Amino acid sequence: MKTELLGVMFDDITLHEAVEAAMGIIAQGGFHYAVTPNAEFVQLAQRDPAFRTLLNGADLVLPDGIGVVYAAKILGRPIKGRVPGVDFAASLMAEMAKQGNRLFLLGAKPGVAEKAAGRLAAEYRGLQIAGLNDGYFSDSGVVADKIKDSGADVVFVCLGAPKQEQFMKEYGARTGASLLVGLGGSLDVFAGEVQRAPQGWQNMGCEWLYRLLKQPSRIGRMAKLPLFLVSAVKERIRGA
Ligand code: UDP
Repeated sequence: MKTELLGVMFDDITLHEAVEAAMGIIAQGGFHYAVTPNAEFVQLAQRDPAFRTLLNGADLVLPDGIGVVYAAKILGRPIKGRVPGVDFAASLMAEMAKQGNRLFLLGAKPGVAEKAAGRLAAEYRGLQIAGLNDGYFSDSGVVADKIKDSGADVVFVCLGAPKQEQFMKEYGARTGASLLVGLGGSLDVFAGEVQRAPQGWQNMGCEWLYRLLKQPSRIGRMAKLPLFLVSAVKERIRGA
């Protein structure tokens, strides 16, 4: 079921349901893509209708951040909970490993995808790492062809927004993969370059605070987030 939040059509879905849907997509074949919007994405979509169309055109729109869950409550349309992109990716790899599916890792600084590939292959036995490429390339067509040659079923596209969504929409079909997933900084996490918040912080909905403390340079990006909740309050008042 879809829930509209400030112009973005989210899937109101649990992590388990999202992985089930993704495995169905892989089995079905053909070109599909998934996005993992957080509050920052929704704010960008409010300013940029083309980006909103990219998000709403996805086969799966997963609520990545706690801000989205709060906005849903404020708007009187509560959703089941957040589905962090990095958790979705981990659970999906566990299922892909059982099927022997092929995964291509795209994005992050040179060397990061290699490091992630080594760790993921060790953790998810049976998962085939079909290939990888860093995220600082100049010719998207060449990268799409490289993915096609790899025979990947799934591509983790970790280029940050909106670059990753634009790549998936424009070049996704050319890759021959069944499912491309936009996953922001997930490769940095899988490579062990960036630590996720401890579970307790995650449970309290404070993962964003942990991330800010670890990467204080994100303060400029995060300072806009309270405005996101304010826009949810304004829409609620308008609609009430
Ligand atoms: N990145 C990339 N190519 C670019 C710009 C960014 O591969 O042209 C990578 C960057 O190295 C990082 C990820 O994209 O690994 C974006 O991380 P960010 O923290 O912005 O994503 P978030 O998880 O917040 O969505």
